Amino acid sequence: MVSRVIPVENFDLVIFGGTGDLARRKILPGLFRRFCSGQMPAEARIVGAARSDLTDAEFRKDIKAALEEFLPNKGHTAKDVRGFLDRLHYVKIDATGTQGWSVLKKLVRKDKDTIQAFYFSVAPTLFGPLAERLHTNKIAGPNARIVVEKPFGRDLESAKALNATLRDHFEESQIYRIDHYLGKETVQNLMAVRFGNMLFEPLWNAQYVDHVQITVAETVGVGGRGAYYDKSGAMRDMVQNHLMQLLCLIAMEPPAHFDPDSVRDEKLKVIRALDPPEREDIVRGQYKSDVQGDSYLEEVENRSSTTESFVAMKLAISNWRWAGVPFYLRTGKRLKARASEISIVFKETPHSIFDKDSGRHRNILSIRLQPNEGITLGVTIKEPGPGGMRLVDVPLDMTFADALGPEADDVPDAYERLIMDVIRGNQTLFMRGDEVEAAWAWTDPIIKDWTSRGDKPKAYDVETTGPEDAAVLMHRAGRRWLDIKA
Ligand code: NAD
Repeated sequence: MVSRVIPVENFDLVIFGGTGDLARRKILPGLFRRFCSGQMPAEARIVGAARSDLTDAEFRKDIKAALEEFLPNKGHTAKDVRGFLDRLHYVKIDATGTQGWSVLKKLVRKDKDTIQAFYFSVAPTLFGPLAERLHTNKIAGPNARIVVEKPFGRDLESAKALNATLRDHFEESQIYRIDHYLGKETVQNLMAVRFGNMLFEPLWNAQYVDHVQITVAETVGVGGRGAYYDKSGAMRDMVQNHLMQLLCLIAMEPPAHFDPDSVRDEKLKVIRALDPPEREDIVRGQYKSDVQGDSYLEEVENRSSTTESFVAMKLAISNWRWAGVPFYLRTGKRLKARASEISIVFKETPHSIFDKDSGRHRNILSIRLQPNEGITLGVTIKEPGPGGMRLVDVPLDMTFADALGPEADDVPDAYERLIMDVIRGNQTLFMRGDEVEAAWAWTDPIIKDWTSRGDKPKAYDVETTGPEDAAVLMHRAGRRWLDIKA
């Protein structure tokens, strides 16, 4: 089976922050892969816009080095690289000043047949100034879209202010708030599995689901981002956006159509149905280590920091479908393995016809986002061989790499898919302004409660599964976390 590559419309894509880490590591390598696949029209151009003083040739040289670093041995040729680099241009620009804007204006085409996309891959304080300058310098035409990176605000008030600023200059239909978790192949596959089959949806409710676990575990610490992270923490950095989005896709009602507003309306309803969690249903942690310089407090150079690098929580969704079904969320840094996984844990059969030595078994549908994206369904079968009826759980692999052929191994990275969706004008996998605000409205009181009480996170050892209290959160209800496995 050969995957179809449908060329997109002609475009000019301006990457503000084109020399930055995200642009070099993800955005430009992603665009290069789309170029190699033939998806990029012959006249499409990419403009890097940043503070450094570079010529086009210097920018191309830097991006060539980035491709070598981040896409080594991926089967492309020197001709592919040259062809891609020819599309690149560079403008030195000041997001908060006047320099470079007239040059950018001359460069960007505004005809009705060219899509203009402006990717804000810069610090969040520059999102507003960029939107304003694109508008006042009349660079953005009717086909313009802006792509806004995370974080989108740090609380409800700042998110509202940012939404208002962006909407002063652009329509909501032109604003693409990125959450790269939504661009992952498996996240979309989750929707295909859930809504494209008769098998799952009838079981997707409180009658059959015991609980849901969503884990996003990292092995890395705060590294060089210590100063930024210490003002943010796991709740703002991961739960309010990525974990919340995943929860919405699992819990939402089937939308009438797979179109942007139908999907986003349903996600919004989930956020609004989330109960405020009880204090005892939240565990905060901060990593520590016996190795000097390796603990959170040393890395952020703030010995009295009370910022969490780990959160585990039990959430309840107050609606008919999910009444009584806990959703357990867990995310943290310096954990024992890097793994992002959603698991739908179904209830046990109401009665076992097998003798008690055969044990009790549950079906678990696991959606793995990284590493090794894929979906597996744990089913119970008879252990082969003589010796009576012994039951064993085996994973049914639903990625079907064999059935789908080699293309199944070469799925686009989240960023490549999302950028192409921007050019196509498809907002389904981007967060709408009201969704982001609703997520902050739910998050804010939790953070405020910690701050007002001076709540201190529990220390946990690096390379573990987090603080003991997180395990207790599950044990209290007779449940346990699934293992974090790379
Ligand atoms: P970075 O610091 O590596 O790069 C910042 C870029 O912004 C540089 O190109 C710099 O020249 C440019 N810049 C800074 N000030 C400017 C100004 N006044 N005018 C014009 N350009 C200016 O940052 P990054 O890591 O690439 O992150 C960019 C954005 O993406 C941030 O919002 C970040 O939160 C978000 N993000 C980054 C990552 C990542 O993995 N790096 C992941 C998720 C989200």
